[in-house]
Formats: sequence, structure tokens, C-alpha cells
Amino acid sequence: MSGTVYLVGAGPGDPGLLTARALELIARADVILYDRLIPTAALDGARADAELLFVGKEGGGPSVPQERTQQLMLERARAGAAVVRLKGGDPFVFGRGGEEALALRAAGIPFEVVPGVTAGVAASAYAGIPVTHRGLAGAVALVTGHARASSPEEEDAAAAGPGGFARGRDAEAALDTIDWPALAAFPGTLVLYMAVSGLPEIAAALLAAGRPGSQPAAVVEAGTLPRQRTICGTLETIARLAGEQGVRAPAITVVGAVAALAGELAWLPPRPLAGLTVAITRARAQASGLARRLEALGAEVVQAPAIRIRALPASSPHGDGGAAAIDPSPYDLVCLASANAVELLFERLDDRVHPPGDARALAHARVAAIGPATARALAARGVVADVVPERAVAESLVQALAGTPVRRALVARALQARDVLPEALRERGAEVDVLGLYETVAEPLDAGTLARLRAADYVTFTSSSTVRFLLEAIAASRSAPQAAGAPHGEDGASAGREEPLSARTRIVSIGPVTSEALREHGLQPHVEAERHDVGGLIDALVADAERTAKR
Ligand code: SAH
Repeated sequence: MSGTVYLVGAGPGDPGLLTARALELIARADVILYDRLIPTAALDGARADAELLFVGKEGGGPSVPQERTQQLMLERARAGAAVVRLKGGDPFVFGRGGEEALALRAAGIPFEVVPGVTAGVAASAYAGIPVTHRGLAGAVALVTGHARASSPEEEDAAAAGPGGFARGRDAEAALDTIDWPALAAFPGTLVLYMAVSGLPEIAAALLAAGRPGSQPAAVVEAGTLPRQRTICGTLETIARLAGEQGVRAPAITVVGAVAALAGELAWLPPRPLAGLTVAITRARAQASGLARRLEALGAEVVQAPAIRIRALPASSPHGDGGAAAIDPSPYDLVCLASANAVELLFERLDDRVHPPGDARALAHARVAAIGPATARALAARGVVADVVPERAVAESLVQALAGTPVRRALVARALQARDVLPEALRERGAEVDVLGLYETVAEPLDAGTLARLRAADYVTFTSSSTVRFLLEAIAASRSAPQAAGAPHGEDGASAGREEPLSARTRIVSIGPVTSEALREHGLQPHVEAERHDVGGLIDALVADAERTAKR
């Protein structure tokens, strides 16, 4: 029996605008076919074993042809998979969702449509523009400014690149098919999609067809996204203003009296990291919290996960853990060296002693966390740590444990880690078992991701392994032949002898150990967090951005 295809709208970019139904289906899907203009966080909730297929267009490369996308969708559904076809905004608003639904109907495959928040309405709202307003606009028209592009992404990818504002011949031909007199006479708000490169012609055509030049108009670039910007003018001036300001796709243009309300109703608070790009190198599974907080502050985030956490199989010959199940009962002190260690310790607790996940397994012992994030992971498991140093480094935990009596200690941590804590406890006469629960392994990074990282204003390092593996990935990408379609030479440097990071990128380190690793690799951190957790890192980054902006 064939599986169901869900044509799902992912909203305009802010992950908070994904619907509850979209999140539910993403979490269940066997296969997700997704476009470029979906919120970066939309796939965070996908199953680890789900097949994620990008079918959009990226960085000037060829887009996946629509026929190929439909073919993939049909194939996977016929094989019985639950397929989510995830699109930006609403699937039936310039999303080709209708075509895909027809193909599914023709193939006899059951489908469901999940509407999304469409960009024309959402970007306007985030700019303080109500698309209808009593007395000002009693109707709203959603209009494409690019009737010919084989996909919405095509126009966007073309207009997103450098010089994107210059309009192609294609767009000109497409604009011929639009009924300008009807649109000019439309008694209400015009919301133009896919109208970045064609804006000068569109505005001229509306003016020529009699829409008043004094009518308010606004362009909302990257609406609901961290780099959202609004440019206000009139139908007469808007194309010139957008050109001068270098507006890039995605953007919508609002033409009508309501556009003037942006001046009064703009409500997005100024964000300290607006306009800045921040690359994060930590494992993807742990990056989402950091990414979301940076985005909320206005940063554009480049996810460049240089590492991945790999749980050691219980029977692993490396695992100092040995036996499959862990019985904490012999220990009077249990030390957790990371949030990962907390998760994995609970997974491996001996369920013959306590039911799985039962926090009472640790009830008899004192529990120490290396820092606040680890303490939070414990709290989520129902355990309040007895000892938490303010600074999340082993030396601080040693100090914090000074008054805690200990005979036998369990230290749960990564396989490769510094031995500061076990050694200090042994010096105090304790018997110490070190339990290596996971290791940090390299995650391959493609050339496009590395190029975006090199172009970032900030790159953050949250552990020494992120330093080591990122630099290894950069070195490897240089010795490898240029991958097809990879952007290159963007910062004018040629492969080979250049510095691993671009000179203008500011390097942010979570703490002294990570900073030391950076220096060992010849990189000087510009910023080091005072508190060695994600919150501390963000505070330090924001303070630096404010300082450098003042200079
Ligand atoms: N189905 C989508 C539209 C796809 S067409 C929806 O319902 O929103 C792609 C066009 O949508 C872009 O060219 C741009 O005009 C608009 N768009 C998408 N995301 C946007 C955003 N975050 N801000 C402004 N416009 C956006």
C-alpha cells in the first residue's frame, strides 16, 4: 500500500511560525523533500533516521527539476513511506503545491495539504503592515512578479546572488503576461512575490497603467528572518530605493495605502546582532539552542557542525565502561562532565537495579555537574546536582568539590578528555572509575558550508574538538580538488597557503581550554566567554559586537 504525501507549508522563515501540524508531520516523516526557503530549524525535529532530501536551488547551482522532485515524491510514497513535501510559506501560494497535488491524484497516491503562513502576509505583518485595514484597503491581491521562472526558487536564487538586482531577459518576457491595467486598477493592496529583480519594470508598468506614483510602497526583505529589513517609499521611488539599498531575495513588495503604516506600526525591537553572520561549529544535535538564541538576537547563523557525538557501544573495547549496564550503587560521588554524559549515563543505567530513566538510581550518591548546562540536563532528568561550579571547567569542579567527602567516585564523560578531575580525586585518596560514554568524531563539511563559514563575521568554538576538527575539515577541503558548484575565491584568496579563517572573521571561544586549542593551531581568539556555557558565549559575542560597532 502506498504511503501518504503531506504537502506542508513551513511558513516564511521564523521557526515559530511553523504550524503545530507541520511540526507533528516533520517529526513522523520517513522522507522529507524540502526547498531552500524553509526555516533552518524546521528539520531539527525530524527523526534521526529520516531521509532528508534537498530539492531546491542553492548558490548558483542547478535546481532540482520539478519533474525530478515529483518523481522522487511518487517513488518514495509508492514504496510506502510517509513523505513530507516541505515548502516555504504556504504550499498553494506560488509554491507549485497544486501541480504536485495533481500529480499525486493522477498517480492515485493519497495526500494531505497543510497550509502555512504565507510570506506576503507574514513579512508584511512583521514590518508593521496590515495587508487589509478598514478605510485603507478592503481587498488584497497576491501577485507574482515572475510568471515564467520554472520555480519560485529560480528567481530567488538568481536575485540572491551578487548583482542580483540586475534583471534577466527572462523576467522581461514573463512580465508581458501580467495584466497591468487590471492590477493598476485593483481597489486594494498589491502584494508582489518574486519581484526583486523585476521591480523596476513592475513599478514602471503599474505607473504606466495608471496606478498613482504617490501611492505608498514598501519592500520587506527576508521577512520574519533575522536579517529582516523594510524599505519604504512610494510606487515612484521604491524600485530606486530598493536598488540603492541592495535588496536581495527573498523579498515581497507591498503597494497600497497600508504600506505607509509601517512607519507607525513597525514593532520588531532592534536586535544587537542584526546584519551579522555567526558560524557555529558544535555538533548539529546540540547546535539548535545556540542557533535559535543567536537568531533571536538578529544574527544570521551558518551551521558548520565540525563534530558529531558518537555514543560508544556498551561493549566497545575502548569504553572504559566495560559492562553494558552501569550500576551506580557502589559510588558515593557521581560526576557528570557534560550534558551528553548525563543523557548517555541514563540510557545505560542498569535496569535490573532501577526501572529505565528512574532518577532514584542516583539517590544514594552525591551528584556533581561540571557546569550549569550539565546541571540543567540533570534537572531535566529529575536530579538536582549537589555541586555545580560557576565556571564549567574541570579545575573549578575540583575546587567546588573540596568540601565533599568521597570514597569512590564515578566520572562520566567523553572518552578523550583531560584527566584533571580523576587525578585530583585520586590524590585525595578516592577510588575513581572513569566512564567514557562517547567520543567526538569529525563530521564532514562540504565546500559550500566552509565558504559560508569563511565569509561569516563571527565563528564560535564551543570545545577544543570543534577547533581541531574544523581546521582538519578546512585543510582537507583545500587538498581536495574543487567540488563542483562550490563557491570559490570569494574573499580573493587562492587555495593553498591562505589562513584557515578569513582575517575579518572574529573568533569567539567558550573558555580557556578552547582558547588554548585555538592558539595551538595558530589562531588568536578575539573574544573569550567569561562564563563557559552557551549563555556566557552569547553575552561575550554581543558585547564584542557592540564594542566593534562603536569603533
Ligand atoms: N509559497 C511561498 C511563496 C513561494 S514564492 C509562500 O507562501 O510564502 C517565493 C517568494 O516568496 C519569494 O520570491 C519572495 O517574494 C517570497 N518570500 C518567501 N519568503 C520570504 C520572506 N521570508 N520574506 C519576504 N518574502 C519572502
